[in-house]
Amino acid sequence: MNPSNPSAPPSPAAGPSNFVRDIILEDLQTNKYQGRVHTRFPPEPNGYLHIGHAKSICLNFGLAAEFGGKTNLRFDDTNPEKEETEYVDSIMENVKWLGFDWEDRLFYASDYFGQLYQWAVDLIRKGKAYVCDLTADQVRQYRGNLTEAGKPSPYRDRSTNENLDLFERMKNGEFPDGSRTLRAKIDMASPNLNMRDPVTYRILHADHHRTGSTWCIYPMYDFAHGESDSIEKITHSICTLEFEDHRPLYDWYVEQLGIYHPQQIEFDRLNLTYTLLSKRKLLQLVQNGHVRGWDDPRMPTLSGIRRRGYTPEAIRNFCKAIGVSKTNGSIELGLLEHHVREDLNRRSPRVMAVLRPLRLVIDNYPEGQVEEMEAVNNPEDPSAGTRRVPFSRVLSIEQDDFREDPPKQYYRLSPGREVRLRYGYFVTCTHAVKSPAGEVVEIHCTYDPATRGGNAPDGRKVKSTIHWVSAAHSIDAEVRLYDNLFTKEDPNQTEEGQDFIANLNPHSLEVVAGAKLEPSLAGAAAGSRYQFERLGYFAVDSDSSAARLVFNRTVGLKDAWAKIEKRGK
Ligand code: ATP
Ligand code: MG
Repeated sequence: MNPSNPSAPPSPAAGPSNFVRDIILEDLQTNKYQGRVHTRFPPEPNGYLHIGHAKSICLNFGLAAEFGGKTNLRFDDTNPEKEETEYVDSIMENVKWLGFDWEDRLFYASDYFGQLYQWAVDLIRKGKAYVCDLTADQVRQYRGNLTEAGKPSPYRDRSTNENLDLFERMKNGEFPDGSRTLRAKIDMASPNLNMRDPVTYRILHADHHRTGSTWCIYPMYDFAHGESDSIEKITHSICTLEFEDHRPLYDWYVEQLGIYHPQQIEFDRLNLTYTLLSKRKLLQLVQNGHVRGWDDPRMPTLSGIRRRGYTPEAIRNFCKAIGVSKTNGSIELGLLEHHVREDLNRRSPRVMAVLRPLRLVIDNYPEGQVEEMEAVNNPEDPSAGTRRVPFSRVLSIEQDDFREDPPKQYYRLSPGREVRLRYGYFVTCTHAVKSPAGEVVEIHCTYDPATRGGNAPDGRKVKSTIHWVSAAHSIDAEVRLYDNLFTKEDPNQTEEGQDFIANLNPHSLEVVAGAKLEPSLAGAAAGSRYQFERLGYFAVDSDSSAARLVFNRTVGLKDAWAKIEKRGK
C-alpha cells in the first residue's frame, strides 16, 4: 500500500444505472451513432475544479469507459478576460488525479476560432446572422421579457454584403469593444429568450491565453460550445440542467450550418450543504483572503480536498452513490465525508498522535527503560503488518483523557482509575500535579507489569483505552483542524444587504501547534494519509517538511451518516 499514491484507474465495470446511461444504451441498440460513445468534459479555465465538476467528470469519463468509448478534455476558452494558464494546468492535474485519462484528446475551443469564424460568415451568407450596432444595454431592452415579445433591432435587415463587410472589419479591429456584435437572426418573439437573436460574436480587444492578439472578436459560449461538440463528433453532450433552455439554440446553429449534430442531455448540478460550488464565489474567497488559496483544505476544490486528504476513490464512490437526476437538490456534506471515511478506513495506517499533550509519569516504571511495543498498522488490512512503538516512563496523553473530578460516564483517567494504554500496559492514576494557577500539568500513575500489550492475565477489565506517545521519543508537529467553511446549510441564504461572506465560519481553521507524534511518522511524505487513533484521519500537508511536520485533519471518526443508513435499514 502506498498512501501517497493510491489512485488506480477506475475499472470499466458496469456503471450505476441512470437516465443518461439509459439513453446511451438505447442509442447503442438503435445504432444511432454506429456504436460510438464519445463524451467530453468541457471546463472553462476560469478557476479551479470543484467537487461538482467531479460529478460531471465521473459521469462523462465513466460512461464512455463503460461502453468502450472516448472522452475528450476540452477547454471552453472563449472568454479571454477571465482565463489563465494556471487554471488550465490545475484542471489537467485534477482530472488525472481523479483517475481519468483523455489520452491524446486534449482540445481547446480556441483551436476552433478559425472554423467558428468561417461558420459565422456562412450564417451571414445564409441570411441567418447580422451585425448589430446596439449597445449591450439596448440589446437587453429590445429583448423583452417572459411576458413581452422583443423588438427587432433596427439593424436586423442589413444586407448580406453590408453584414459581411462589417463583420470582417470587426475582425480586423476597426471598431472599439462593445460597439457592435454579430447576432443570430432567429425570432424576437420566441417564448425562449435564448432564441431572441442571441449574440454570436462580440468585439473584445483582449489577449487570449492561447491565441494572443490574433483575435479581437470572440465567439459567445453558446455559439462555440455546440459547434465544438460538433467538430469533435461528440455523441452525447452531457451538461447541467441550466443549459436545457439553451439546447434549442445549439440545435438551431448546427441545423442552419448543416453540420454534425451531437445530442445534448442535461442532468442536475451537485449542490452540497455548508458548501458553495461556484467558481466565481470561490474566486472571491481566494482573492479577498478568506482562505489561503484555491488549494486551501477547507475549499471544495479538488486541489483543496486532495490536500486535505480526500482520496480519488472516495470521490468516485461518492459520485456513484449520488447518481444523476433531472431535478436540482442538495446533498448532505455528511454523505461525502462518509465515503471519505469508508475509503480511508480501508487504506490508512493507524498511528498514535497526541494533539494537546499532558505529561504522564509512571512512577514504578524503571527509569531509563525503553520497550518497543508491537502495534497493528491496520486492523482492516492484515497485510499492513505491525510496527514497534517505544514505551517509557514518561508519556504524553491527551489533556482530554484526564479529569480530576470525572463526570458520570467519564471512564478515562482520573485519580484512582485504571485504564489501558493502547498496546502498552494498564495504568492507575495516583495523583495530579498542578501549577500555581491550579492547572493540571502532570499526572502520576503506576503500571501493572503483568498487563504488557494491554491485557490482564487475571481477566480484569478496564472501561477505557487511551492513546499515548513516549515523551522522549515523540516528534513535534503542527496539526490543522478544519470545520465547515460556512455556518449555514445553504451559504447563499443571507439577511438583507449581506452576501455569502457573512456566513463564513470564523472557526473553520484551528491550528494546533504543539502536537506530539509517535516516531514512526518522522519524515512522513506530503500527501500520506493516516488514522490518528481515536482522533480521525489526517494527511501530511503540502507545506510539510522533515524539519516541520504539518498535518491536516481530513475528517473525524464519527460517522453520523453510517448511523442514519443503519437506522434506515
Ligand atoms: P461554475 O458555476 O462553478 O463556474 P460552470 O458550470 O460554469 O461552474 P464549467 O467550467 O463551465 O463550470 O463546467 C464544466 C462542466 O462541469 C460543465 O459541463 C458543467 O455543467 C459541469 N459542472 C459544473 N459545476 C457542476 C456541478 N456543481 N455539478 C455537476 N456538474 C457541474
Ligand atoms: Mg461556466
